[in-house]
Amino acid sequence: MEFNLDNLVRENIKRMTAYSSARHEYSGTASIFLDANENSFGSPLSENYNRYPDPLQLKLKEKLSNIKGVPFQNIFLGNGSDEAIDLLFRIFCEPGKDNVIIFPPTYGMYEVCAEMNNVTVKKVSLTENFQLDLSAIEKAIDATTKLIFVCSPNNPTGNSINRNDIEVILNNFDGLVVIDEAYINYAKQKTFIPELTEYPNLVILQTLSKAWGLAGLRLGMAFAGQPIIDYLNKVKYPYNINTATQNLAIEALSNISSINNWTKTTVEQKEWLKEELLELEFVQTVYPSDANFILVKMTDAKKVYNYLSAKGIIVRDRSNIILCDDCLRITIGTPDENKQLVEALKLYGA
Ligand SMILES: *Cc1c(COP(=O)(O)O)cnc(C)c1O
Repeated sequence: MEFNLDNLVRENIKRMTAYSSARHEYSGTASIFLDANENSFGSPLSENYNRYPDPLQLKLKEKLSNIKGVPFQNIFLGNGSDEAIDLLFRIFCEPGKDNVIIFPPTYGMYEVCAEMNNVTVKKVSLTENFQLDLSAIEKAIDATTKLIFVCSPNNPTGNSINRNDIEVILNNFDGLVVIDEAYINYAKQKTFIPELTEYPNLVILQTLSKAWGLAGLRLGMAFAGQPIIDYLNKVKYPYNINTATQNLAIEALSNISSINNWTKTTVEQKEWLKEELLELEFVQTVYPSDANFILVKMTDAKKVYNYLSAKGIIVRDRSNIILCDDCLRITIGTPDENKQLVEALKLYGA
């Protein structure tokens, strides 16, 4: 199979001229900026936000480039991973014509973005083991399939998808394979980032929202070959990452030690919680997890959910989702929170 990015991109996206901002046109050093109609006096905050932010976030990307081992030209930053997901639809999927493939049960935003963009979603369920059904996937792919979303570790099941299976798709599909690695910091499985140089059809999504503890900042990353990154930059809003987010992210990325400790503790707590839950007679299965949450199958999950929320403990009810009958998804909290969860569950039905 021959991969050709230009055959995948929508004609209107190829044709369009990107918005050219004032800060785009001038990128040298200067001392007087009278080009962008900003308020030159300052802003009513202790830090100055009167200037537009760097549209390509180069300082922040340099920092990420060092941490991730990826040249900055291969990094796109979005308002959460969700922005990158939406832009991929808008660049590659012709509304009413093209389709994408997802593997339920999985992250909800792929389908939301597809519907928003009037793009057909083909669903190929994971197997009972929450792995890819390669022969069903092969049958689902057609000439108008543009994107395949692989979430690994997968939300809400928690497991990593077998690496060899992902490679089979990467090697045989001439659309884009989007691997969502939102939970990769917790996984034993390695990131696909080193494979970027090998696969021009690979897009990797990561986020600062989970292990990095910055869900409130809204900063998501896409890693891909430069031609794909160039298209993402072409269609994004010019100033999609605000100055406060850029500055705070740069500061946070210099503070890695607490992140590593939190991740380690989360993984240890996950094992502890799993053992405690398996002691409870209404808990049937705690599925293997490479993420910061566990999927738990139990007798009458809805009743357990209601019991916990009445006690002020909120978990995610996934019992209406395919392959997740009677399952709750439980995020790993602090040791104290996890202990309170277990104490509450021990009193359930007592
Ligand atoms: C939480 C999550 C994200 C993160 O999305 P942001 O928009 O970056 O907060 C992405 N993918 C999956 C599978 C997630 O669970």
